[in-house]
Amino acid sequence: MHKVIVNGKGEKSLKRNHPWIFSGAVQKLNGNPAPGDTVAIHAKDNRWLAWGAYSPQSQIRLRIWSFDADELIDASFFERRLQTALAMRYRLPGFSDTNARRWVNAESDGLPGLIVDQYGDFLVCQFLSAGTERFKEIIVSHLRSLIPAKGIYERSDVDVRRKEGFTEQCGVLWGAQPPALVQIRLGAVVMWVDLIEGHKTGAYLDQTGNQEKIQAYAKDAQVLNCFSYTGGFGLWALKGGAAQITQIDASQRVLNLSRDNVTLNGLDEQRAEHVAGNVFEVLRRYRDSRRQFDLIVLDPPKFVASKGQLDKGTRGYKDINLLALKLLRPGGTLFTFSCSGLVSAMLFQKIVADAALDAGRRVNIIGRLDQAADHPVALNFPEGHYLKGLICDVE
Ligand code: SAH
Repeated sequence: MHKVIVNGKGEKSLKRNHPWIFSGAVQKLNGNPAPGDTVAIHAKDNRWLAWGAYSPQSQIRLRIWSFDADELIDASFFERRLQTALAMRYRLPGFSDTNARRWVNAESDGLPGLIVDQYGDFLVCQFLSAGTERFKEIIVSHLRSLIPAKGIYERSDVDVRRKEGFTEQCGVLWGAQPPALVQIRLGAVVMWVDLIEGHKTGAYLDQTGNQEKIQAYAKDAQVLNCFSYTGGFGLWALKGGAAQITQIDASQRVLNLSRDNVTLNGLDEQRAEHVAGNVFEVLRRYRDSRRQFDLIVLDPPKFVASKGQLDKGTRGYKDINLLALKLLRPGGTLFTFSCSGLVSAMLFQKIVADAALDAGRRVNIIGRLDQAADHPVALNFPEGHYLKGLICDVE
């Protein structure tokens, strides 16, 4: 068995069951493990600490499979971990209201680097770490027997794969190729999802539940949904009786799908405007033409992907929040989000506070939102909390 000795910092982190060991914490390597091989992790005094997957190219040199010395990292290990993850989802309230969900949320489910999402009859997986890549076949064969599906599709076309030393990979892993569009049901809303070309694994399932909350604020409202993707927040706003929704996204392709989703739900197309453009520019244009809204959603992509982007990203968040606050009628509502893990909930709140100050608006937080419950955050992995949102009442 290959063996790694970690320094005091690494040991301390493992004592708290944290699933990562960075390259700097590796003091010594015995053996010559291939990417994804299981290694025994020991303390400086040679005490055994954990089993982990070795990733020679990544800054995150080891991702922990198990803190139990007697646990073999074999096929049945993966079956047990998958069963545990599945059981947690079955326990969630409202489980049967949807046929799209995250079954496996990587580190938080004890399977670092593995994402498994369901869209109707299809599963879409991402293998984001050397360890999951190494055990891919085993994982897929368990998924086949544990979750009824017509096909399992891989969407490992994600940047982090390169950090692990792997190329991007997409395609059928088992069964049928998903059709160009798959229909999913999320409570009272149905949606077309593009599993092959869509973002992430097809949809932003982390916003499931949050989108629905907009209904209660939407009656007769003029709604502006910024970074709308395929329209989730806008659809729920129409369901809630919005007078008009404006969906803005940079991609015409996703806006076409968004329009189809309005029709699919039998909602009034006349009430849905779709604007292709850069939110930063469109908001400025609306400000200059004094256009106003009752309800605005800001759900931008990740502005801060690394510490180096913190300043620029913070400015981006402040900019759009400032503009949105200026476009809101008195008594309006702002749903504002950040999905940057490096921007803490407190920092995000400060950014919105700065924007309110500059906009000269009095703003009260009337609700706080998080990633959907099927994207859980393990307490030993606080980094897993990335999506946070504020519902703001704007006087
Ligand atoms: N709110 C969506 C998810 C948003 S994801 C939902 O609930 O499903 C972010 C979206 O922002 C993507 O669709 C991307 O195409 C779009 N986008 C990224 N940068 C943009 C920009 N500067 N202007 C407009 N849209 C942008």
